[in-house]
Amino acid sequence: MARSFVVQQHQATTLHYDFRLEVGGVLRSWAVPKGPSMDPAEKRLAVEVEDHSLAHGSFEGRAGKGGVIIWDRGSYEPLDDEGIEAALAQGKASFRLAGEKLRGAFTLVRTRGNEKKPQWLLIKRRDDEAGENADWPESVVSGKTLEELL
Ligand code: MN
Repeated sequence: MARSFVVQQHQATTLHYDFRLEVGGVLRSWAVPKGPSMDPAEKRLAVEVEDHSLAHGSFEGRAGKGGVIIWDRGSYEPLDDEGIEAALAQGKASFRLAGEKLRGAFTLVRTRGNEKKPQWLLIKRRDDEAGENADWPESVVSGKTLEELL
């Protein structure tokens, strides 16, 4: 069954992208400083952060001194036999994204788990969708860049 994912570009103290997967009724979340990449050679640091509500995934707007745009969204299909929750618990989960910008198979691999904020790598897998990143910084909802929103 398809579930939702969303990537929110977030200007807070630092600019980052929040990568969120719907798992068990919440959005499991990772802060990705450089954002996801469609290039399998570019492994992106993804710092696990607290779960967010499903409703938060549709938020776009100013927040504090910064703000958030919905950089991408769509559905995903888990690719591990044991299911996404068990795969994440084991520290390696693969899934196929069907977003507007991000498409195809990705893997999250936990590299440092014994910390308050476990570190993962978000890696594009080699498939027909892999390739260069499009020059497409705007929100997939409003068409605005984060700069235009702020
Ligand atoms: Mn954030």
